Amino acid sequence: MNVFLNALTQKNKTLQYPNELPVLPDRFRGLPVIDRTQCGDGCRLCRETCPTDAIGDEGTIDLGRCLFCNQCQRACPQGAIRFSQDHRLAVRTREALVLKGASLKLAESLDREARRLFGRSLKLRQVSAGGCNGCEADTNVLSTVVWDLGRFGVQFVASPRHADGLLITGPVTGNMRLALEKTYAAVPAPKLVIAVGACAISGGPYIDHPEAGNGVDPVLPVDLYVPGCPPHPLTILDGILRLLGKL
Ligand code: SF4
Ligand code: SF4
Repeated sequence: MNVFLNALTQKNKTLQYPNELPVLPDRFRGLPVIDRTQCGDGCRLCRETCPTDAIGDEGTIDLGRCLFCNQCQRACPQGAIRFSQDHRLAVRTREALVLKGASLKLAESLDREARRLFGRSLKLRQVSAGGCNGCEADTNVLSTVVWDLGRFGVQFVASPRHADGLLITGPVTGNMRLALEKTYAAVPAPKLVIAVGACAISGGPYIDHPEAGNGVDPVLPVDLYVPGCPPHPLTILDGILRLLGKL
């Protein structure tokens, strides 16, 4: 009885996304916007403060390395860098993550045959390849009643043999590399690989550490990159839906 009463009082908790965007908190940091015209001559304050060398000499930001830590925005006396509330960050190629100005070439959908195969039902095996549990937690939340990933035909499964692809978090540590390769081999072809978070894309805060690895790229072919540390669940969902041609 209590179950029915709870259901009546709580009503439908699932977000109306993508028809309505959820309200993001003020502190949310999405796509950075760079205005090079504000930069002082020879100023390198943002570059010097960046913990992952994500900012290039031409004022580019490599979103694959960026931790969205906001240090560069705080260091810049001219206000040349600010973080917008735009949650859309997922792309199809590593090169597309190097942001010049304010525009990002967002992920294009899979080809028609792949959409026919995966568009209505996509099963993913999540592999934490040395992540800190931040990306894993924000991926996990997509299966809750609030996000209800299953309504888009996307589900996480326990066995790679039942999966259409891998969603990988973490920098691919030395301890996890073989396990990741074996898990990938167990997924039947054709298969997808989604790299979620700065670690999985570039090594993130562990870049160039000999035991941590520099992400998925040196190990497996990647179909979708979702930057962030960790990416917001909305950013991950946006990327998956773009890949499937559902946005
Ligand atoms: S927000 Fe990104 S680009 Fe800026 S300092 Fe942090 S890691 Fe570097
Ligand atoms: S990208 Fe950030 S949140 Fe994700 S696993 Fe790495 S350190 Fe943790």
